[in-house]
Amino acid sequence: MAYQSLYRRYRSQTFAEIKGQPHITQALQAAVAEGRYGHAYLFSGPRGTGKTSTARVLAKALNCEHLTGGEPCGTCKSCVDIEHGRSFDLHELDAASNNKVDDIRDLIAKVSLGSPGRTKVYILDEVHMLTPGAENALLKTLEEPPPHVVFVLATTEPHKVVPTIRSRTQHFEFHLLPGDELADHVRWVINDAGLDVDDVGIEYALRQGGGSARDTLSALDLVAAAGGVPTTSDVGYELAMAIGSGDPGAALTSIQRALEAGREPRVIGEDTLALLRDAFLAAMGAPLAHLNDRSRQRAAELSTSLGAATITRALEQLGQALVDMRQAPDPRVPLEVSLLRLTRREGSDLGALLQRIEALEQQIAALTHGGLTAGSPAPDAAPRAISASAGPSQPEPSRPRPSQPEPSRPAPRQPNHRRLRLRRHPEQPCPGRLAAGPLLLPATSSPTSRPPVPRFAPRRRSRPHQPPSPLRRQRPLHPRPRRTPPRSRSSS
Ligand SMILES: [Zn+2]
Repeated sequence: MAYQSLYRRYRSQTFAEIKGQPHITQALQAAVAEGRYGHAYLFSGPRGTGKTSTARVLAKALNCEHLTGGEPCGTCKSCVDIEHGRSFDLHELDAASNNKVDDIRDLIAKVSLGSPGRTKVYILDEVHMLTPGAENALLKTLEEPPPHVVFVLATTEPHKVVPTIRSRTQHFEFHLLPGDELADHVRWVINDAGLDVDDVGIEYALRQGGGSARDTLSALDLVAAAGGVPTTSDVGYELAMAIGSGDPGAALTSIQRALEAGREPRVIGEDTLALLRDAFLAAMGAPLAHLNDRSRQRAAELSTSLGAATITRALEQLGQALVDMRQAPDPRVPLEVSLLRLTRREGSDLGALLQRIEALEQQIAALTHGGLTAGSPAPDAAPRAISASAGPSQPEPSRPRPSQPEPSRPAPRQPNHRRLRLRRHPEQPCPGRLAAGPLLLPATSSPTSRPPVPRFAPRRRSRPHQPPSPLRRQRPLHPRPRRTPPRSRSSS
């Protein structure tokens, strides 16, 4: 017997076997058990999340001879025929290739014909690919099909399905599978199929699958066939670490090694982008339900070592590189150039400067805590650590002060009117009001902590000793004489 791929061999055959979509399977099972199922469904969601499998299980349940609690028995003739693809009660149509009006007219002509089972189920895959004419031809039948007919429309892009079709269906949205549930399923498949795959292989398959059960099992097939994980599988992680350490040589070496092993530049970029996105989510404290424990830990490590600003910049650069690859004569070049920019810290552009500042902040945080550890807090904890260590005499603990600007000056000073004037915030009241005290900035506050003054602000140094008087802002008592010549009184 020919080898059957894992995702076909372990395709779900009952509602209970469908992974990660309980909100859909429970509703459908109850509807079938109580005989109140709809005449048209729209299943949408990412690829490999169980849309077609669920539609087939629904077709089985609607025709099963020994239905128990809404679940098909799997052993009657109807169930077996549907499982082996030889039933006349189930018709699958790929709407991507049968998308013309004539194809839909052909389907409509056969809809009213009877079939051996109770219900005839039509599955239209990728229904968003129908032409406008085909969509219009389908509308009437979709709205009022014969009583023994059920339509299931499946799509990965529900926003492209016209509202007139969507409004005639019950819409179910499929989700990507949670990482832990998918990991359990993969382990069960490995056990059941007697495969020899270690934890590294499972981790690789889960990462490649990205929450899609079919993609995960395909990757597992590859690992099992190759006897291990491909040697270049960690190129994304290597590139992310090279960005963190600012090592362009390591980045270009990793890319070159992966290219020599046959990896496409686009795949390398997408792998790195996916890892960085997980790290970004970890840095922002977002839930990482689509990852398993190991990947979650890895994302946390990357977010700690890179920092949010660097990850954001890397996401932007790599995303642009993936766009540029479509037009580039050699798709390797945009990838290599973007990695070079991300790892090079000597540049004078804003991104490189931000990266250097962030690296300095991390070093300061590490010094404050006595060394960086794997579980150290995020880089934004650095300013807090500095201000906390400055002692209770600091009146503004929330403002970080990177260095003492004037170490020779004694720390406690009497408030000086001129100094205070210079540090006055532009939005604060005038110095006369400030002399009362409560709003004064302290004399020990650093000049670097002064908020930036707009360029168009009046220069306050010009009158250092004159308190502002309301009279000064009024019109002068003796205006300048007009320069325009007075009107001549001489009359001709
Ligand atoms: Zn059955």
